[in-house]
Amino acid sequence: MPADGNTTPVPKPPAPTRVLSGIQPTGRFHWGNYFGAIRQYIDLQTADEAYYFIADLHALTTVREPDRLRALVHDAAVDLVSLGLDPDHATLFVQSDVPEVTELTWLLMTVTPMGLLERCHAYKDKKTRGLPADAGLFTYPVLMSADILAYDATVVPVGEDQVQHIEVCRDLAGTFNHLYGEVFTLPKPRLVEGGGRVPGTDGQKMSKSYDNTLDVFEDLAAQKKKIMRITTDSRPMEEPKNPDDDHLYVLYSLMAPEADRAKMADLYRRGGFGYGEVKKALVEASAQFFAEARARRAALEADPDRIEAILTAGAERARAKARDVLDRARRACGLTRGLTRGLTRGKAGKPGISGQPAGKSSGKGGRA
Ligand code: ATP
Ligand code: MG
Repeated sequence: MPADGNTTPVPKPPAPTRVLSGIQPTGRFHWGNYFGAIRQYIDLQTADEAYYFIADLHALTTVREPDRLRALVHDAAVDLVSLGLDPDHATLFVQSDVPEVTELTWLLMTVTPMGLLERCHAYKDKKTRGLPADAGLFTYPVLMSADILAYDATVVPVGEDQVQHIEVCRDLAGTFNHLYGEVFTLPKPRLVEGGGRVPGTDGQKMSKSYDNTLDVFEDLAAQKKKIMRITTDSRPMEEPKNPDDDHLYVLYSLMAPEADRAKMADLYRRGGFGYGEVKKALVEASAQFFAEARARRAALEADPDRIEAILTAGAERARAKARDVLDRARRACGLTRGLTRGLTRGKAGKPGISGQPAGKSSGKGGRA
C-alpha cells in the first residue's frame, strides 16, 4: 500500500535465492548423511546461487590427526561430486580456503554476548556430560554465522538440530546491522524433509558416534556382511508385521524402486517371510541405488587433478564473494586502513574504500 495514496508502489525485483550449507569432514558419509542432508543439497543446487563447503575448520575441534583430516577433506569432495553435486551449478569449496571467514568471525565475536553461546546446545550437551569443551566448540556458532553471512546466503538447509544456530546467526547479524548499518543479509533456515531420521544397523539413529552406520561408498562385500548382521526382532516369521516399525524395511524403502517397496510392505503385512530375504533385498537395492555414484567415484579417484581443479575454482568464486562482504563489514565498523592501503581489495581488484561514511556506503541497504 502506498503511504500517501499518491505514489504507486514499484514492485521490488525478487531477491536472488542464495543457498549455503556446509558439511563436516569428520568421517566417511553414511546413508543418514546422504538421505538427511546431501540429497537436499543436490536438489537445491539449481537455485540462483548455491555454495557448499567442506567444513574443515569446524572439524578441527574433533579430528586431531593432520593426515586423516587431509584425507577426509579429499574424500568428502570426491564423494559429494560423485553423488551428484555439480560444480557447474554449485560452488564447492573447502572452508579454510576462504580466510576472510575467520576475520569475519572476529568481527562477529565482538558483538556476541557470552550468554547466547552458553545456551547453545552443542556446548551445553558436552558440558552436561562432563566432557572438556574448548573455545573452538564454544564459539562454533559464531564461525558458523560467519560461514553463512560471508556469502549473503538467504537459505540455509539444515536439520532440526541446527535451527538454533541459524537463530544465533540472525541475532548476531541483526546486532551488527543495528550498530553499523545494513551490512549483512539475514538468512532463513530451510528444514530438510524426508530421511529426517535414518535408522542405523541397531535401529537407533544412524550416527558415526554410535558405530551403527552403513557408509555410502564402503566396500560392497563388507557392507553385505554388516547388513546380514543387522539385528531384527525375534517374533515368529508367520506373524504379520507393520513394515514402518521395522528399521530394515525403513532402510529398504529409502533405496528400492516404488513397485518393489510396495511388494515388500505387502509381505510384511501378510507375514510368513524371513528377515534374511529382506536383508538380501536391501543389499541389492543399495548396490543398485548407489551404482552410478560408485562409477563416478571410481572415475574421479583415477583423476585427482579434476577434484583439485573443482576445489580451486570453487575457492576462487567463494573468496571473491566473501571478500566483498568482508570489505563491507570492515568499512562499516571503521576498519578502513587495510582497505586504503590496498591490503584488502574490493571488486575488480580496486582498493575497497569508498570514502563514504561507515555502514551507509554500500547502497545495498534493507537486507533481510
Ligand atoms: P556425529 O555422530 O559426529 O554427530 P553424524 O553421523 O550424526 O555425526 P553429522 O556430521 O552430525 O553426522 O551430520 C551431517 C548431516 O547429516 C547433518 O545435516 C545431519 O542432520 C545429517 N544426518 C546425520 N545422521 C542422520 C540420520 N541418521 N538421519 C538423517 N540425517 C542425518
Ligand atoms: Mg550428528
